[in-house]
Amino acid sequence: MRARPWPRRTAAALLAAVLLLLAGCASSVDPIERLGRKAAQRVRPAGQAAPTPRPYRRWGLAAPLPAPPRPPARPSPRAAASATPAVIDHVDTPDRVVFLTYDDGAERDPRFVDMVRELRLPVSMFLTDSVVGPGYGHFARLLSVGAALENHTLEHPALRGLPYAGQRAEICGQRDKLHARFGVRSRLFRPPYGSYDTTTLRAAADCGVSTVVLWRASMTETRLRFTHGRRSLRPGDILLVTSDDDDLDGPTLRERTTALLRDVEAEGLTVGRLQDYLR
Ligand SMILES: [Zn+2]
Repeated sequence: MRARPWPRRTAAALLAAVLLLLAGCASSVDPIERLGRKAAQRVRPAGQAAPTPRPYRRWGLAAPLPAPPRPPARPSPRAAASATPAVIDHVDTPDRVVFLTYDDGAERDPRFVDMVRELRLPVSMFLTDSVVGPGYGHFARLLSVGAALENHTLEHPALRGLPYAGQRAEICGQRDKLHARFGVRSRLFRPPYGSYDTTTLRAAADCGVSTVVLWRASMTETRLRFTHGRRSLRPGDILLVTSDDDDLDGPTLRERTTALLRDVEAEGLTVGRLQDYLR
């Protein structure tokens, strides 16, 4: 038996469906973003340039970082003055935040400043004077976009076993540099290599340090390396993003930060300001 041709109405409906499908496939933009663009087009006056991509997309994230919760009330710093500093690698908090820290100050990528500004990342930079050298302008820009600048000694020695006078000179000396160059009063200290002893704590207390800040995990290349405990991110973890001076082809601080932020988002966490959680 010969097949009957489709009625005209069915053929028209089929054609319309195929056209719709083609229109969908032709767009490489996901449906949510397309909706966002349409909304933006509606409110944009004629002749105005198209909006730039949202910051989180520009920095390689699939979704915006959630806003951190309101931080806890802190005890007055004066009450804690001259006490032996606490040594921490995480903060005890139920808040779903982790803390991003960076050491030394060797890498000075202007786009990292843009990233911190656009994502409003509350990062802490632990600076060593001899490494930062002539690069203080970069860190002044980071300070102006919300980064905290903290103490990582004048010359980056391993402090454990050094006499009190030498340790005090390293810690108080960098505290004074940070104040003279940036006007900041640093109260957090990270010993180079995480190396310290009881003399360090005494010297740090005498230099006004409230807390010695270590780290529970570091971001090396594109992977998190935990120092101890559970091998996954937990609320309150202090994280160190390292830069690799010897590997010029390796990922930049910015790329490492993006990789870390993806891990942070995957765990349902966000980035908090370390200074808000410490005395
Ligand atoms: Zn260091």
